[in-house]
Amino acid sequence: MSRARQAVAAVVDPEIRVVTIDDLGILRSVQEDPATGRVVVTITPTYTGCPAMDVIRADIRRALAAVGHPDAEVRTVHSPAWSTDWISDAGRAKLAAAGIAPPVPVRRDGVVPLTLAVRCPRCGSPETEQLSRFGSTACKALWRCRSCAEPFDHVKAL
Ligand SMILES: [Zn+2]
Repeated sequence: MSRARQAVAAVVDPEIRVVTIDDLGILRSVQEDPATGRVVVTITPTYTGCPAMDVIRADIRRALAAVGHPDAEVRTVHSPAWSTDWISDAGRAKLAAAGIAPPVPVRRDGVVPLTLAVRCPRCGSPETEQLSRFGSTACKALWRCRSCAEPFDHVKAL
């Protein structure tokens, strides 16, 4: 992995600071032009209109400037569309460790995923309920565990 890629892969998500953009699958590629040394980063936005993307772009440029690439370009690719299935296993583990329920896998046959599959990140109980569609950020919903009564954030499946 190149130094440029390493720097970009370490950029954390501004809304969920326990995971990197690499963990989330937002980071598609980091390419270095061998002739000019110019770095081109390709990212795919998560939730449409998520204001975090502007912060992420700025953070990527800052991270690359710190390793000697002040003229990096950040490109946004919308196709194929990002989904929560792109979150890596390492990313899911980091979310759970931070008390955030990772998104459940979305079935691609159009069937709405069983929300009962959202497990409490603290005690693991499947006895959970949604309190609000919007948690601390638009990308998360607020849930509560019926077993331990703790509220928790759940990254919405998409
Ligand atoms: Zn619980």
